[in-house]
Amino acid sequence: MNVQPLVDTFGRKHDYLRISLTERCNLRCVYCMPEQGIELKPGSSYMQKDEVIAIASEFVRLGVRKIRLTGGEPLVRKDAAEIIRALSGMGVELAITTNAVLVDQFVDVFEECGIRALNVSIDTFNPERMKSIVRRDYAERILRNIEMLQKRNFKLKLNAVLVKGMNDDELIDFIEYTRHRNVEFRFIEFMPFDGNKWDKSRCVSYEDILNAARNVYGEKVTRQIDGPNDTARHFRVDGFAGSFAVISSITNPFCDTCNRLRLTADGKMRNCLFSGAETDLLAALRNGEALEPLIRKSVEKKKAIRAGYEPSDDNADVPSDINQRAMVAIGG
Ligand code: SAM
Ligand code: SF4
Repeated sequence: MNVQPLVDTFGRKHDYLRISLTERCNLRCVYCMPEQGIELKPGSSYMQKDEVIAIASEFVRLGVRKIRLTGGEPLVRKDAAEIIRALSGMGVELAITTNAVLVDQFVDVFEECGIRALNVSIDTFNPERMKSIVRRDYAERILRNIEMLQKRNFKLKLNAVLVKGMNDDELIDFIEYTRHRNVEFRFIEFMPFDGNKWDKSRCVSYEDILNAARNVYGEKVTRQIDGPNDTARHFRVDGFAGSFAVISSITNPFCDTCNRLRLTADGKMRNCLFSGAETDLLAALRNGEALEPLIRKSVEKKKAIRAGYEPSDDNADVPSDINQRAMVAIGG
């Protein structure tokens, strides 16, 4: 039987699901995790392995073609390898976003499951600074693992959240990193989440980033063609092996082509990263209820832009008091 795709009232087809495997993390990045950490719920509140697989299968039946595992740090889950193996058998493009601390223990699983591309977060190359950003002492391991992934020919997107006074002085170093390496460095505008002390004056905007790049490389900075549902705007410095991109969810939301849905580690569906509304798919699954009507209803309710927070006249305001979970509890 032909299944209708997940299309919202703005005609956007949703075929990409981001699953947070856990709210736990082995790092405490200042822009993501509140300093005091987040309070975890009892273990039974979170999706067990079979529940992740059951809910993911329903999304795949409804037309999802890409699944990204995120968190928290997805690889801290004891059964992460089993989940990766199960999802890789569903005929979807399986992707992972990780902080790289544990990737050396997973490369074989990735290769076995056909995962050749990874998104890795790295906000600085300076080990001392990294320690203060991630509030843990794993710099050496993270940097070594990133090198190892390149040696093993993984296609890497490196994500840096740029925050003024934290790491914005490394922007050109990040772009330089792409001179001889075929990686994509992606600069993410700092977003407001519960407990992360967001303040617009600390955001490094799309415009700031491009101006800084053009100051150094001038006309050699060229715009690349973006994919149809890309959240990033892509650039390359002529002659460089890699490229860079800007994810400007604050100053230039990319909502008009959004194809994403989210599932939190406790089994709640969110139709937008900025949405406070959630649909409890885990409770429904446990009660033996059908998931499809709940999923469709959530998709139907999706707002045009950033869960209804319209950009203001200067196209730059997202309220900093959005009633939100911490980023680590949504799944970035
Ligand atoms: N632990 C994994 C990692 O760090 O890649 C996956 C989860 S993390 C929440 C996913 C992405 O969200 C990371 O690239 C991180 O930099 C980004 N992120 C976290 N907090 C953010 C914030 N306040 N603004 C923008 N991006 C943020
Ligand atoms: Fe952990 Fe990733 Fe958040 Fe850093 S950004 S605290 S690594 S979930």
